[in-house]
Amino acid sequence: MNPIYAQVIVDVPTQQTNQPYTYAIPTNLFDLVQVGMRVKVPFGKRDVMGFVVNLIDQKPSDRIQIKAIQSVMDLVPVLNSELLTLSAHLAQDVFAFRISVLKMILPNALSATYQYLIQLQPTFILNDESQFLQELDQQVVQLSDFTSRQRRLISTLNQQGQLTVEMLIQDRLGIKTQRAYQITADDDLLVQAQLNLRANAHQQSQLLAFARQNLGQAFTQKELVEMTDLSSGTLRAGVSKGWLQVLAVEKLRRPQETMNQAHEANLALNEQQQQAFEKIITAHQNHTYQPFLLEGITGSGKTEVYLQAAQQIVQDGRTVLFLVPEIALTPQMIRRVSSRFGSGVAVLHSGLSEGERYDEWRRIQRGDVNVVVGARSAVFAPLTNIGLIIVDEEHEVSYQQQDNPRYNARQVALWRGEYHHAPVILGSATPSLESRARAQKGLYQLLTLTKRAGDAHLPTVQVVDMRESLADNQETNFSPELKQKIIERIQTHQQVVLLLNRRGFSSFVMCRDCGYVPRDPNCNLAMTLHLDSHCLKCHYCGYQTTIPHRCPQCQSNRIRYYGTGTEKVARELEQILPEARVIRLDQDTTRKKGSLAKALQDFGQQKADILLGTQMVAKGLDFPNVTLVGVLNADTALGLPDFHASERTFQLLTQVSGRAGRGQTAGEVVVQTFNPEHYAIAFAQKHDYEGFYRYEMRLRQVGQYPPYYYTIQIQTSDLDENVVAVHTAQITRWLKTQLKKDVIILGPSPQPIAKLKKRYYFQILLKFKKPHENDALLQELIQLAQQIKGNFQVNIVRNPLTFM
Ligand code: ADP
Ligand code: ZN
Repeated sequence: MNPIYAQVIVDVPTQQTNQPYTYAIPTNLFDLVQVGMRVKVPFGKRDVMGFVVNLIDQKPSDRIQIKAIQSVMDLVPVLNSELLTLSAHLAQDVFAFRISVLKMILPNALSATYQYLIQLQPTFILNDESQFLQELDQQVVQLSDFTSRQRRLISTLNQQGQLTVEMLIQDRLGIKTQRAYQITADDDLLVQAQLNLRANAHQQSQLLAFARQNLGQAFTQKELVEMTDLSSGTLRAGVSKGWLQVLAVEKLRRPQETMNQAHEANLALNEQQQQAFEKIITAHQNHTYQPFLLEGITGSGKTEVYLQAAQQIVQDGRTVLFLVPEIALTPQMIRRVSSRFGSGVAVLHSGLSEGERYDEWRRIQRGDVNVVVGARSAVFAPLTNIGLIIVDEEHEVSYQQQDNPRYNARQVALWRGEYHHAPVILGSATPSLESRARAQKGLYQLLTLTKRAGDAHLPTVQVVDMRESLADNQETNFSPELKQKIIERIQTHQQVVLLLNRRGFSSFVMCRDCGYVPRDPNCNLAMTLHLDSHCLKCHYCGYQTTIPHRCPQCQSNRIRYYGTGTEKVARELEQILPEARVIRLDQDTTRKKGSLAKALQDFGQQKADILLGTQMVAKGLDFPNVTLVGVLNADTALGLPDFHASERTFQLLTQVSGRAGRGQTAGEVVVQTFNPEHYAIAFAQKHDYEGFYRYEMRLRQVGQYPPYYYTIQIQTSDLDENVVAVHTAQITRWLKTQLKKDVIILGPSPQPIAKLKKRYYFQILLKFKKPHENDALLQELIQLAQQIKGNFQVNIVRNPLTFM
């Protein structure tokens, strides 16, 4: 008995429509509709796309009138049951519409219309019913070419393995097809043509001879030209006479770095690595979900542990999902993984074109891949049978998506690990406080690597007090100490990495004489400078004050905006060290595809002495000849308008220090700062993560911040400033009556960027103890807000990382 109703999530992203709708499956579509497929359904006055999430035998209620599915857009499901379940969970968890989550999980390319390539397999059985398929072997077709009956047969034969069906996107989306020709199978036609040919038509005669030798076969234009020397005009003539038929054959696109890697041998694990490895493998063998926090100093060989564990899992027939921050997905890293896993690797990163990304996705979906390496969105890779998930640099902010749906890839990774009963490794030299605290509680198993692998040692870190350095020379970015060490390195042909920490949004005020940064009295956070309204604001609670002209701490009048760009530093470098060869690495210089890879390659081949860059230089780079790392402005991270400011500073300094002394020669780090006594800098200097963790946890507890509290940001907006102010105040009053007494409510306050795209934003912040204690109430709030007429919107953000 066929299910006769399908539950469909329709492509109408509103609160009212955020639920499955029941549609009837018309008899001509029986068998064709499967869970995880996209369908076209009537909705209101129009037709929309929708995802089938369930098939049922019975109508949910007799009273409702049910419309029928109009057509099926897929021949095979684009989402498996795991990803469907995940979408439901995620929609709830991040307060997003299910349809938005479903569309996000799929590659962009799939929102397009597409075609199919049918390939018959040796097991194909020819009979009356399947006869039409014989002509379609290797052909690009559209679903609309077939009757429902034919489509059902294709679907069945596909399931039986008699043929394969592959989706192709159309050209305009950048799928790389190449022109190809299929020679007719009709020899009589060709013989006839040969007889009728004019005597001087040499080219056509040649084509016919070739065609008769290769009846029914397909060749790309390139192959054909190479084999026969025919002109494209002749080929066109062949097409117009029916000897050939034009095909679009897909060209396989693979990201460059994965190609032709020499095989890299495994290193013998040291004792600590071996212990970590064994615990992970045991969890895998027991087929249990077990999160591990792999806390290992930079260069301690975490990656080697990941790779060898992954190899074991692949050997045992399961698959591996390996997440790295975008910034760490360097060609170096990709080469390293590819060299161990060869063609079984798929790589997903933002440098891929939509077409390349889609091709990699399809290889994964077809099961051609056993290891997926990628940045944030790769967490949705359609791998089945996952045996291990790795989240490298688990503390990285980039795992958090900043737009709706605001998922966190680390959380999704843990969810998928649980679904597959697989171990999940969260690895970092500087774990997020949240993860480290979970390990403390025993929720994660803590694995530690405390020594650098091989013979390398951690570099010594010197902190330079810029308040003294700048006393005589105000304008320079280079202290005499740093300058001297750079010169020494250049003379001895060693290399230097310079970090200029720059976060686009953190403009703040700092006293150049004492390092003082204005903080707000409620939250003790650095306040953000707003030049438009000439004030300082707290991004957390909205506290606002004037810009001081005199430093309240030391009375100096040199209290001012703090910030500089890489370009400016590069110019200064040129002046003070004209002989140095510098490669600049920032968003401007790496925008072009391949330019980052090129810059790193050049640096690796020692075509430059100095690599000067933003955060990009802090992650994952492994250049043995780098013996000096300079941090030009350690204070920028301290000025972040965020309770994570110290944590980010500590992480950044530790990570960038990790770039020094990875080879034979010992490394050295120089940190320039206006706040030399700051604990984040002091702990980083001693490479003391555990010390930092304990100190910072106390501050978080006192300040009632995560991980002691969970936070929710309620963001409201409207085109009219008054309207949003009034409604937000109402919401706050309502929350106060509904929420438990121990929930802390901050605000409402206008948001730091109060006006964006003509909308005015406000926020309310909640702090509370149990992760989901307010979820039901917040869902209710969303429902209530929907009823407000006009342009008012409410957006709920769980665990916000920034407060813009
Ligand atoms: P991490 O990921 O912790 O920063 P890596 O895995 O990149 O560390 O290792 C740092 C360096 O040490 C690399 O050059 C790597 O080849 C080397 N290494 C790792 N494990 C070993 C080992 N067991 N024996 C020798 N060298 C090792
Ligand atoms: Zn505040």
